Amino acid sequence: MVSVLRDDEVERALVIVAHPDDAEFWAGATVAMWAARGVEVSYLVLTDGDAGGVDPATDRGDIPRIRRAEQHKGASLLGVRGVEFLGRHEGELQQDLALRRELVRVIRQVRPQRVITWSPEWNWARFRTSCHVDHRATGELALTAVYPDAGNSFAHPALARDGLEPWTVSEIWLLSSPQPNHYVDVTDFFEHKVRAVEAHVSQVGHRGSMAASLRERIAPNTAAAGLPPGRLAEAFQVVANR
Ligand SMILES: [Zn+2]
Repeated sequence: MVSVLRDDEVERALVIVAHPDDAEFWAGATVAMWAARGVEVSYLVLTDGDAGGVDPATDRGDIPRIRRAEQHKGASLLGVRGVEFLGRHEGELQQDLALRRELVRVIRQVRPQRVITWSPEWNWARFRTSCHVDHRATGELALTAVYPDAGNSFAHPALARDGLEPWTVSEIWLLSSPQPNHYVDVTDFFEHKVRAVEAHVSQVGHRGSMAASLRERIAPNTAAAGLPPGRLAEAFQVVANR
């Protein structure tokens, strides 16, 4: 197992994801636990999830507003302090210097010890997650923004001119990695995750209670984490930035 910071060594954490609901589905209980322990957690959501929704009666022009509101609600149920959106279109994220500079800007503003983001790798065990171009693109953008960009005082001089000092993130926690190396026992915060996922009504409202499917989704992590039956865990690949 990888060595990770203790939660009391982390003042701030930044979650960089592609779509409203990514954070809740993949790390909602961990985020709730960190927030309860006093970590100041904030989100950076790169798109408005404007290709989402399941109800054909919804005006497509309303989707960004709906999904932003759902993201704010889900995040607040977990104790997240703030959510920033970059408003890019779903399905169109790619390696783009201007977008990466936006990520560096937010990293230098928030100054997190920890960043959660998508793994940029394919995970064949989770095809429908890693085949989403936005997830892999977000992972690569965020990792490059963490290193070398955010900590390099000579990178992105326009940010330095705005007074944003270099910042070194200590560790990155990757979602949907094909090689998880760290499990968080989130049993006590699982109900927070369920409520936060259910806040994304446009995505899951037609499915009724999400408790059973979310439990089933993370059930394999229990044995992988070496936890006794009945406990629940979220899985990450933690990468130290050193
Ligand atoms: Zn997503």
